[in-house]
Amino acid sequence: MSHLETLFEQDRAHFMHPSTHAHDHASGALPGKIITGASGVHIRDHQGREYLDAFAGLYCVNVGYGRDEIAEAIYKQAKELAYYHTYVGHSSEAIIELSTRVIGWAPQGMKKVYYGMSGSDANETQIKLVRYYNNVLGRPQKKKIISRQRGYHGSGIMTGSLTGLASFHQHFDLPAPDIKHAACPHFYKAPTGMDEAAFVRHCVEDLERLIQAEGPDTVAAFIGEPVMGTGGIIVPPAGYWEAIQAVLAKYDILLIADEVVCAFGRLGDRMGSQRYGMRPDLITTAKGLTSAYAPLSAVIVGEKVWDVIDSASARDGAMGHGWTYSGHPICAAAALANLDILERENLTANAAEVGAYLNGQLRQAFEGHPLVGEVRGDGMLAAIEFMADREARTPFDPALKVGPKVSAACLERGMIARAMPHGDILGFAPPLVLSKAQADEIVGIAKAAVDAVA
Ligand code: PLP
Repeated sequence: MSHLETLFEQDRAHFMHPSTHAHDHASGALPGKIITGASGVHIRDHQGREYLDAFAGLYCVNVGYGRDEIAEAIYKQAKELAYYHTYVGHSSEAIIELSTRVIGWAPQGMKKVYYGMSGSDANETQIKLVRYYNNVLGRPQKKKIISRQRGYHGSGIMTGSLTGLASFHQHFDLPAPDIKHAACPHFYKAPTGMDEAAFVRHCVEDLERLIQAEGPDTVAAFIGEPVMGTGGIIVPPAGYWEAIQAVLAKYDILLIADEVVCAFGRLGDRMGSQRYGMRPDLITTAKGLTSAYAPLSAVIVGEKVWDVIDSASARDGAMGHGWTYSGHPICAAAALANLDILERENLTANAAEVGAYLNGQLRQAFEGHPLVGEVRGDGMLAAIEFMADREARTPFDPALKVGPKVSAACLERGMIARAMPHGDILGFAPPLVLSKAQADEIVGIAKAAVDAVA
């Protein structure tokens, strides 16, 4: 047996993959790849085939693959100080510098940064902060959190509950009772005859109805991605966030912006909050913070919540919340080198320019295509949604697997575009270093793949 065959056999035997069909993987029916290397916007597999990674891993490798500068920063930090904990006030130089830099990227009014390793643990921290905040304020009944259908916020018990996708709830007894879901702001799916402004009112009324039904005194926070990612790359209609925030203010409900995908330039602005006029009390970031060179998440805490935590400590002592790896120095060093690249190479501006170009070219290429219902996106996020009937918005029979087939056809042609987990949607979230020529390549391959499946 060759080394490669042995590796695949061991993979099937012992590696439990995330979000993977267990039986198909173990039987070999699922053709996984061993990724052996990567550079720029390309990855290479065990057969030496190269692919243009139009999804930046899982929308995270924002500065592209193979950056020496980040590798060297990780090496240097590992030699100098691989680890020391940050409990009871300890720090490293890297994490101090990073906290100041992150606040600089965030919208106004943000005060402190709390670190974890993933978007899921960061949102878990958010839920705990929201509970702590209201308990300290003497409102223990104010605990429920509203997220949205098709929102994605992680896959823990509470964060999986926030996630508004049924496949993340199945057999886990989720969602948990304190988590409720409001309407998804997908204008293309709006009730027939509604214009955008009416649809925003529709979303707002839905939220207000939910708050009233639950009891305003029991609702603590609303969490949302500025642009929804995993739920299908859904850009909110104009005026949506302003209108939602007015309702939250009316009922004294905190806003958590889940910027795990949108932060650090992906939408062509520093964060999605600035781009969409969001004034969050709390922000969740991860992925683009290190471009995935090391696992790091950052919960950014606004002044309003921080002031309550600060004064509570005088009465109740330290907040009992922490991970061994909170503020890990190696991850902080990776993040600093990543932010250096983002800033020096103006990658936020590149995401705005090349992202607009990519979205425009996709729209043009698929205008009127018989398989396509909608092309949508913002910055370096884009999606093509396939529909049996565009006007009637009739989806394809899921058994036809149109989305997965198009994704597979892209792969055959040397490109990774993701079949999103809900509906027949092909998602694009390329590295922010993408050039216009590479955007053309993405559109060309996507067109050929869709035509091959049609
Ligand atoms: N929040 C959002 C918006 C995400 O897209 C993700 C992951 O894709 C998460 C949270 C969870 O992050 P992680 O997979 O790092 O736990």
